[in-house]
Amino acid sequence: MEDKYYKAITKIQEADSIVIGASNGLSISEGIHIFAENTAFLEKFGDFRAKYGFRSIIQGCFYPFPSQEEKWAFFSRMYDYFLYDEEASPVMKNLFELVKEKNYFVVTSNIDDHFSQAGFPKERLFEIEGNCRNLQCTYGCHNQIYPGDKILSEMAKNQENGKVSTDLIPKCPECGGPMQVHVEVDQNFLRGEAWLTNYQAYQDFIEKAHGKKLVLLELGVGVRNQLIKAPFMKLTSHEENATYITLNKGELYIPEVIASKSIGIDGDTAEVLQQLVQA
Ligand SMILES: [Zn+2]
Repeated sequence: MEDKYYKAITKIQEADSIVIGASNGLSISEGIHIFAENTAFLEKFGDFRAKYGFRSIIQGCFYPFPSQEEKWAFFSRMYDYFLYDEEASPVMKNLFELVKEKNYFVVTSNIDDHFSQAGFPKERLFEIEGNCRNLQCTYGCHNQIYPGDKILSEMAKNQENGKVSTDLIPKCPECGGPMQVHVEVDQNFLRGEAWLTNYQAYQDFIEKAHGKKLVLLELGVGVRNQLIKAPFMKLTSHEENATYITLNKGELYIPEVIASKSIGIDGDTAEVLQQLVQA
């Protein structure tokens, strides 16, 4: 076994606290690529591409759909695509296996909710940009977010010519206005009570980890990422007993100042996690 793997697994085992930071690269290792015009996109969203010209799921998320019927056709299908398999992917199962007995917290910008699906409890999870299965009032007339699974799967199943039928469209229970998925696609994104609670839990976790053996495990986060990577690097540099473990395929970046506290593994995240779990 490679020395790096051994070091990484030892640090994980010895850690008092583990913060997992995950972004798009983790989803890609599961086979979901929201930025790509790949076969899956053309298969699942080809009709949207033909109609509106967008070339990836992420472009669809930001597309100004002309009607609620069309908007919900897209977002319910996206929900269905992300969560169609009820079982978590091997990648996520391995990740959970790796840390489930440890004191951990997850911060992610992924919107597919695959952490919960794999068994990570909500109270140990901060989804910075929301997730695709919750709904909010578009006007933000009140702070509550709502589980949307039932209505989203219903809309995913009942759509014709890129539209859901009008009677299925969710309305805000308070103001009767339109709703949207609780994902940061525009300035309406609600940072309400649920979001703030999870944000605070993340801050508290880091505070409590101060001075202890802390592992920052970063999965598939791009080099320029400011939401997750930048704070991780800062923490590594400030915390005496911190170790920064970064897994990324072809995009490793470790600044010199934290190099001695860092382990970088350049490889397919799915394979690396498998190796770590077996170790
Ligand atoms: Zn409302």
